Amino acid sequence: MSTSRSIGHTKPEQSTRYPQGSQAHRRSPLENDAVSSVIPMKVAIIGSGVSGLLVAYHLSQAGKDVTIFEKSDRIGGCAQTVQVRINQDTVRWVDLGVNDFNAAAYKHIVKMLDALGVPYKDLEDSTAFSTLDGSYAYTIDPLSNTMSKSLNEEYERFKREAPQDVLNPLYQNYSVARYLEGKGYSQDFGRYNLYPRINGMYFVHDTTPETMSFRGIMHYYSMQEGFGGTPERKYFVGGSSRWIEALAQKVQFLGTKIYTNVSAKVFADSHGVTIHTPDGDEHYDAVVMACHATTALRVIQQGITQDMVKVLGAFHYCNSVAIAHTYTPLLPPDVNSWRTYNILIHDRFAQLRPYTISYVCNRHQNDAAEPAYNYFETPKFFVTLNPSIAIPDRYVLHTTDGKPAIAHFPHNVVSLATIAAQAKLPEVQGQNSIYFTGGWTKGAGLHEECWHSAQNIANLILGINVEDEHSYNTAADASQYAPKYLRDVVCQ
Ligand SMILES: Cc1cc2nc3c(=O)[nH]c(=O)nc-3n(C[C@H](O)[C@H](O)[C@H](O)COP(=O)(O)OP(=O)(O)OC[C@H]3O[C@@H](n4cnc5c(N)ncnc54)[C@H](O)[C@@H]3O)c2cc1C
Repeated sequence: MSTSRSIGHTKPEQSTRYPQGSQAHRRSPLENDAVSSVIPMKVAIIGSGVSGLLVAYHLSQAGKDVTIFEKSDRIGGCAQTVQVRINQDTVRWVDLGVNDFNAAAYKHIVKMLDALGVPYKDLEDSTAFSTLDGSYAYTIDPLSNTMSKSLNEEYERFKREAPQDVLNPLYQNYSVARYLEGKGYSQDFGRYNLYPRINGMYFVHDTTPETMSFRGIMHYYSMQEGFGGTPERKYFVGGSSRWIEALAQKVQFLGTKIYTNVSAKVFADSHGVTIHTPDGDEHYDAVVMACHATTALRVIQQGITQDMVKVLGAFHYCNSVAIAHTYTPLLPPDVNSWRTYNILIHDRFAQLRPYTISYVCNRHQNDAAEPAYNYFETPKFFVTLNPSIAIPDRYVLHTTDGKPAIAHFPHNVVSLATIAAQAKLPEVQGQNSIYFTGGWTKGAGLHEECWHSAQNIANLILGINVEDEHSYNTAADASQYAPKYLRDVVCQ
């Protein structure tokens, strides 16, 4: 094993500590270690998305010596807020990736936001569906439901029955198409509502909403949108990066070191882990891979087991592109139908298309309720994920430092295969002191699930024997596999 040079105590030439300072309150890694000599003292984390930061939070709170290595020049992964210039006089923030949450289901995240003093507010929870040419368009929200009567009846039936059916073992391995067919829904319900809606979920395969797992879809629907319960949909005031920044500051306050711009490689064996960076090698007692499964397979150069390869190899990814813009043809043709979420119904012969959803940011940021922004006067601006038509350059918004507000997000796919692989992950955790966390490891990978995944990994590393409260997809009994808080939401 290579000898180590402490990155934390030298000035890295290529990496950047993020942000500078805030080491003053660092606790000794030895403080809590008197309890047990088998508990790892030094832990490396690869990736500074919310999952990596949350593992760091749990471990550094327990007195561990934690270092995060991030490949990109910014922290936060899928949480990316940018400041965009709407016109000469107006600069607004906009979330390109993570942008909202359902406070009713995100119990732990809400608690953290409150503790960190990160503001969040109600968003306007409204949705429009339309074809590109506008020949088919409707809205669904309490003020104006313009869905056809027959579609509405099926939608209401789905809302009533599906949250219960998902707890039935019969449907455990059903695709959405098989579920709809088995329950006798019309083809139109799939074509004009459910499949386009699924196509607007960030974790769906680029081409086939029909083949997605019924369980995975319902899980997201219930957790993120409060299906079967009462949603409390919120947005992060100032954007999701604001919350990530607050979390990063907290973990740094607790002693965690964060390095951005570092391409780290992992060499592990039964004696521990060496992290290799351009600045040198450093020995750790454990490493947490808080990056995607495909990345972990690349970054771990030594110590990966056959079991890990098998389990991690089952996860697959698609790419999304998010663009902030002012190009209205991507919105419903009737401006009165614009809603917070605008979901595109692909032409019936072109279902094999990436998901497309546009947010009207003014609605998402609830400008109507903001004294500083008069909804009707503030220029409208949008974010579209995977625009189905090209957005001419002049409509693409630019950040205040002059770059086009465009971001790419590789995202994991929640399929029957990946749901099965998630259930296998516990078997490989900790082999050669390597652990895996991240959105891809739990359910649909929402922030609250990242919280559970991170806490579970921290408990494993700390040797705390607590059953993972969030045991989605691991038990044969359907009433077991729905996470407890989800059961509470669904079954109230
Ligand atoms: C478009 C989109 C929208 C979403 N919207 C929401 C939402 O509104 N609400 C919600 O709760 N969830 C949302 N999600 C889900 C979201 O992915 C999770 O909530 C969460 O942000 C995932 O965090 P993570 O840390 O697991 O992974 P990521 O955020 O992907 O972070 C992984 C990190 O690892 C880094 N990395 C990669 N390779 C390396 C390497 N070799 N070395 C070091 N670091 C590396 C990456 O740069 C990144 O910073 C959305 C996802 C997508 C794709």
